[in-house]
Amino acid sequence: MSKKLQAIRGMHDILPDKTPLWQKVEKTMFNVCQQYGYSEIRMPLVESTDLFCRSIGEVTDIVEKEMYTFEDRNGNSLSLRPEGTASCVRAGLEHGLFYNQVQRLWYQGPMFRHERPQKGRYRQFHQIGVECFGMSGAEIEAEIILMSARLWKQLGLAEELSLEINSLGSSEERLAYKDILVNYFEKAEEQLDEDSKRRLHTNPLRILDSKNPAMQGLIEGAPQLANSLGAESIEHFNQLCTYLSEAGINFTHNPRLVRGLDYYSHTVFEWVTTALGSQGTVCAGGRYDGLINQLGGKQTPAVGFALGVERLVLLLEQKEYSVTKPLAYIVHQSEAAGQIAIHLAETLRDQMPEQGFVLHCGGGSLKSQFKKADKVGAKFALILGEQEVEQNQIGIKFLRERIEQQQIPQNKLKDFLTNNS
Ligand code: ATP
Ligand code: MG
Repeated sequence: MSKKLQAIRGMHDILPDKTPLWQKVEKTMFNVCQQYGYSEIRMPLVESTDLFCRSIGEVTDIVEKEMYTFEDRNGNSLSLRPEGTASCVRAGLEHGLFYNQVQRLWYQGPMFRHERPQKGRYRQFHQIGVECFGMSGAEIEAEIILMSARLWKQLGLAEELSLEINSLGSSEERLAYKDILVNYFEKAEEQLDEDSKRRLHTNPLRILDSKNPAMQGLIEGAPQLANSLGAESIEHFNQLCTYLSEAGINFTHNPRLVRGLDYYSHTVFEWVTTALGSQGTVCAGGRYDGLINQLGGKQTPAVGFALGVERLVLLLEQKEYSVTKPLAYIVHQSEAAGQIAIHLAETLRDQMPEQGFVLHCGGGSLKSQFKKADKVGAKFALILGEQEVEQNQIGIKFLRERIEQQQIPQNKLKDFLTNNS
């Protein structure tokens, strides 16, 4: 017997009962992007592996152990994108989007990481991201944070999410801090787990990002990056704090927030919730002024964030939500009625483009058709039997209310539905 066909572990079908929540997140985000004047960019799902090694960094979780990398038929090493920023910068460089211009961009789509699947963590997951280029001040950082805050408000999730921010300083400041940090961790090397030992001399900042509970005490005691920041970096960070406070955004300064990717500098932030267990970060971002230069372009300031759609959907699922249902289901009997029904359905869709009309297909008794009408959640069943066809009438059965069935002329149907929708 052949093996049962199944989706790949960690990659999920999103079934019709859940898609309304996805659409809610997507529609709301598209609208917010429009409100702030952001333009959409779409990048391929596959890029050369080299792009991610050079941008995300060789010694990050993603590049070390999470990428879906394969050789194509030409022997080139390709990878499914694990995130969007690298591809967005590649696209911007390739098409000259960064020359003497400011860009406010957004993208969305699936990302791929070979992680251990669990609630809120999948191998194919979806992000919506924004990336801004050519602006070095704290106001653009405030803008994208305000944008995300507006999104939470519109989704009814403002209460669930809190904002953490930090500054990683300039690359020079981070370099100086690295020495201090390595010195500290070297003295406690026997307490480091395997991952941290490996990172000690390659990417010691990442040790601070460790999720291993056994490491938390040591991490708590580590010297803080904030003490290595120069006046300019502090000023930049304070400016952001002022903008946020003035806009009424609550935040916490979390000096341990470092983010998992190499390319960040200065501001980093995360929106977190306690409602999703250890997968509590729903949105994360920051400034990455060095990345474009690192990928071969002219020095260009950049800032962005990406949010995890699955985690937002999990949050929305915990609340009550309504799903838009069709207004009417058209039932019919006899061949002549079936033809009229098709025509009627099209006419109603022309007349009331915001509403849904489902046409019964496949015959069957009126009783079985009413059952189907009920199942799709329609408010009315519109009935075309032989008698109705002969008299140019239509029967209306109320499926959600105890109201007697009615018979009206077909040409009065639109008025009836408009008054009762
Ligand atoms: P985490 O610390 O949870 O692994 P990360 O730092 O790797 O997150 P980013 O690369 O910053 O995450 O991605 C931004 C957002 O994308 C995350 O905050 C999260 O909401 C979502 N995300 C990241 N990885 C996954 C995944 N494997 N499954 C589902 N969502 C994810
Ligand atoms: Mg991760």
